[in-house]
Amino acid sequence: MRYHNITKDDMLNGDGLRVVLWVAGCNHCCKDCQNPITWDPDGGLLFDENARQEIFDQLDKSYISGITFSGGDPLHPANRADVRNLMEEIKEKYPKKTIWLYTGDVWENIWQYPMMKFVDVLVDGEFHVEEKDNQLLWKGSKNQRVIKVQESLKQENPLIPVLHCGDYSREPVSAPQTLKDAPVTSCLL
Ligand code: SF4
Repeated sequence: MRYHNITKDDMLNGDGLRVVLWVAGCNHCCKDCQNPITWDPDGGLLFDENARQEIFDQLDKSYISGITFSGGDPLHPANRADVRNLMEEIKEKYPKKTIWLYTGDVWENIWQYPMMKFVDVLVDGEFHVEEKDNQLLWKGSKNQRVIKVQESLKQENPLIPVLHCGDYSREPVSAPQTLKDAPVTSCLL
């Protein structure tokens, strides 16, 4: 896996103060993506032991709520296995810290990925510039969803996600009741 940045004390990519890993590699090619430099999976820096330690040094701090995986797309094929392994290690070492994941993929296509058992909150879907709204909470366009992963996996039908919050407020709103009603998905990345 390669990455572009590790940001600290981040307040814009999930609840609380977070460490954010910005990975390299994305196939979604969203119009007006703010980070096209991250699309190349061979770009950026090798995610080595120093980078791993940088993240763990942040997670060691009591005021850090958790880690957010962003990019690029952490679910790009070049990243998936390394992201999953890093998530597992973090959940073992820091069981009380939360893991957020941003991806251009949609919940309906990825909910069965083994790594989902480590994810607390998923922000799914491509960035649709036509639906862009700077006031949205934790996402860049209205089609995207902020999903409580563990609660969604426990649903009788996991395809109907439980939302973590509303579009503009921390109070969740009802999820769509049928797939037909589900918004066409996609990232703030
Ligand atoms: S907005 Fe996100 S998913 Fe879309 S191209 Fe950019 S990095 Fe990829």
